[in-house]
Amino acid sequence: MASSSLTVFSCGAASMKQGRNPAPLSRIFFGKDLSLNHHVCPPSRMDCFSKSGRKDVFINHIVNSVTDLVMDMSTEESRLSKGDMWAVHKFGGTCVGTPKRIQNVAQIVVNDSSERKVVVVSAMSKVTDMMYDLIHKAQSRDDSYLTVLDDVYEQHKSTATELIDGEILESFLERLQHDINNLKAMLRAIYIAGHATESFSDFVAGYGELWSAQMLSAVINKYGVPCKWMDTRDVLVVNPTSSNQVDPDFVESNKRLEKWFSKYPSETIVATGFIASTSKNIPTTLKRDGSDFSAAIMGALFRARQVTIWTDVDGVYSADPRKVSEAVILKTLSYQEAWEMSYFGANVLHPRTIIPVMSYDIPIIIRNVFNISSPGTKICRIPANEFGESQRMDSLVKGFATIDNLALVNVEGTGMAGVPGTASAIFSAVKDVGANVIMISQASSEHSICFAVPEKEVNAVAEALQSRFHQALEAGRLSQVQVIPNCSILAAVGQKMASTPGVSATLFNALAKANINVRAIAQGCSEYNITVVLKREDCIRALKAVHSRFYLSKTTLAVGIIGPGLIGATLLDQLRDQAAILKEDFNIDLRVMGIIGSRKMILSNVGIDLSQWRELQKEGEEADLEKFTQHVHANHFIPNTVLVDCTADSEMASNYYDWLRKGIHVITPNKKANSGPLDRYLKLRTLQRQSYTHYFYEATVGAGLPIISTLRGLLETGDKILRIEGIFSGTLSYIFNGFTWNRAFSEVVAEAKQAGYTEPDPRDDLSGSDVARKVIILARESGLKLELSDIPVESLVPAPLRESASIEEFMQQLPKFDGEIAKRRADAEAVGEVLRYVGVVDAVENEGRVELRRYPKDHAFAQLSGSDNIIAFTTSRYRQQPLIVRGPGAGAEVTAGGIFSDILRLASYLGAPS
Ligand code: ADP
Ligand code: ASP
Ligand code: MG
Repeated sequence: MASSSLTVFSCGAASMKQGRNPAPLSRIFFGKDLSLNHHVCPPSRMDCFSKSGRKDVFINHIVNSVTDLVMDMSTEESRLSKGDMWAVHKFGGTCVGTPKRIQNVAQIVVNDSSERKVVVVSAMSKVTDMMYDLIHKAQSRDDSYLTVLDDVYEQHKSTATELIDGEILESFLERLQHDINNLKAMLRAIYIAGHATESFSDFVAGYGELWSAQMLSAVINKYGVPCKWMDTRDVLVVNPTSSNQVDPDFVESNKRLEKWFSKYPSETIVATGFIASTSKNIPTTLKRDGSDFSAAIMGALFRARQVTIWTDVDGVYSADPRKVSEAVILKTLSYQEAWEMSYFGANVLHPRTIIPVMSYDIPIIIRNVFNISSPGTKICRIPANEFGESQRMDSLVKGFATIDNLALVNVEGTGMAGVPGTASAIFSAVKDVGANVIMISQASSEHSICFAVPEKEVNAVAEALQSRFHQALEAGRLSQVQVIPNCSILAAVGQKMASTPGVSATLFNALAKANINVRAIAQGCSEYNITVVLKREDCIRALKAVHSRFYLSKTTLAVGIIGPGLIGATLLDQLRDQAAILKEDFNIDLRVMGIIGSRKMILSNVGIDLSQWRELQKEGEEADLEKFTQHVHANHFIPNTVLVDCTADSEMASNYYDWLRKGIHVITPNKKANSGPLDRYLKLRTLQRQSYTHYFYEATVGAGLPIISTLRGLLETGDKILRIEGIFSGTLSYIFNGFTWNRAFSEVVAEAKQAGYTEPDPRDDLSGSDVARKVIILARESGLKLELSDIPVESLVPAPLRESASIEEFMQQLPKFDGEIAKRRADAEAVGEVLRYVGVVDAVENEGRVELRRYPKDHAFAQLSGSDNIIAFTTSRYRQQPLIVRGPGAGAEVTAGGIFSDILRLASYLGAPS
């Protein structure tokens, strides 16, 4: 081990050359004083080389160390003037991920019109990961670290070769080779020891920034702009804290910066992000993703006019754009909002970036290096008047962020209430195992405290608590220390949430409507953030639900249409014609994400173009209901899904329960579910009542007429249903309205069939079974627990014709039976009455029936024309005069209209404005 380490530091040729001894290996690997005297990454200056053309000067520079600064032979002393003339630019890893990108960055820097610039640069993308991987592999004694190191070398060698040439390239490659040799020896030592101290890891990890900064600075120089590169370990001084973070020491950093600048004055400085040193000159880092923080510290040190953080997205989005495709770019964020967002996992900005710039009111601009025409997001102090006055709800929450891989720990027991020190004991146990508490919630009953910690730390936390509270648990003062795994946090952030009533109600409403269970809640009294804990699997859906509720300010519904037959097709055409108006005027965005017929289906990720659905359907893929449901419900950005069953299929109806349970809303004109077995109906309704998932079926009775909704309105306002009686069949209405004078019944039926008012087989209408289904639906809606078989139905199909082979035969035979029904009509007429085929729900007697009844000629039922339906509700409030609903109750247009209005009702239940 010793010999290999000595080889390492013999590579630091300059150190030796300058007569300083390398640190003993033991100090480097295991000690805390890994001094910068011994690191090999100096404030090299490509420009020195390019100007002087003397390679030895350059080499000198690249091998000198921080303390050389003090002894630098430069004679020129320049004072650093700070202030608005400085602009800081920070380029993230992806911005400098390839040679082309580095050139692009250099171009941006060169074109920037600021008087003076500090360019903070990250390592090329993935390089820091590779560096940590090297350490990890070496300490796990995995030889393949050598291959990774070769990859690191090759990547930088080829990048530099593409970017620069001549002696500058030669010098860089020499330096690179030298660094790699050092790393190889260091890693070898780690390999042997099977361990690397944190400072050693930090030291290794920081090479990526050293290389990228040198390359970028060389390219900027090549473009003719004099530029110096800064190894920020010479300047930035930070102090480690107990929580694996570092705090900048601004006073010391400032001193060192002035010193550095006096030696290397420049109007363009390329500084390494991420790395710094401690006050004892030990190299360290600002921790993962810390280059943003470096840029902010630089901004503060230079009192810069602004700090621009260049990355690979157009700015800060209202939610992680990888999770919510409809997230929008935020034009401005206050410092507090940006801070909250970054703490809550919006990794576009390192959480510590805000504080340094906030003290000097320096704005941060987040911009996209790949789309420089986009203005980006400005983070600054928001003028007070922007928070005043009436606000629209959608701007109250600025953004949403999530943290995954958490577990909740719930400490519960009756012995906690009123006992001082319980919380302190809990959290000191948590601290002892070094776990980081992300959120805490305690109800004022004090019976439980729950908090979230990273999943990987939860076992240690639980064990620590079990042991700390061993006695209390045994004595029963505490009932349990419960771990709830697989959780995520969702945070809503926005400064305007403070003191605005209704924000959390809207948030929770959106979650409830997306059928998402909230496990714990926290809101600090600053009110900038509301945090909820959810099941991990619900997290993305929750994010979409709350985002679309606040941000899109639209109620967006994913619609799946099942059965594009006559009614389904009419509905699709109505949706096509109305969609734009709904979106513009009513803020309702209906997207048909799938249409499934008996053979084919079409699926879309953004919404089917309804002007072409017929053509698309013809070329659709093979129908697969499972796939269809899965797609419409889960495969896109919309949190709420509705399936519209336009079939008359009872098998399709048997899926409703499952769909509702999954949080899919169901709308249907299909009578089969509600008129099927009573227990299935009751199960559906119970589920519907218990959840926020909706099941609407207005069009099952009277097509588009408001029958179910009228009945509901009566019941919900406390009225008592006594009787519902009505002509529920458009066909039978038409037939009996025309069955007057001396016309034969069979003649009227033939006429109705001719005019298309009947089913293909008129017996389906005349049997009364369809009316019976409507009666049972209304009976059940009124609270009666009846089966379809409990409803006596008077069939108008003469018994001998019920089993007739064909429709034609039936039509031919029907006139034979005209006499019987003509007699009933004559009997009625004799006393001034007419015949009507009606359904009756008798809520007093708890029964229903379907029959041919007689009504006086002045009765409302006798006044109908055409195929109108009429329904009379006799209730406690409408006892003398029934409440009557009348109008066309059949036909594709009105039925589809009824379904459509159910869809809009759903949208308004989900929060669309009224
Ligand atoms: P860099 O390497 O430039 O520092 P990062 O990967 O650290 O870039 O941060 C940028 C990434 O942050 C984006 O590519 C984006 O996927 C992610 N991100 C997460 N949440 C947000 C958000 N709310 N707004 C913008 N980007 C976000
Ligand atoms: N290169 C460092 C990292 O990947 C720092 C940064 O890019 O912000 O963590
Ligand atoms: Mg970053």
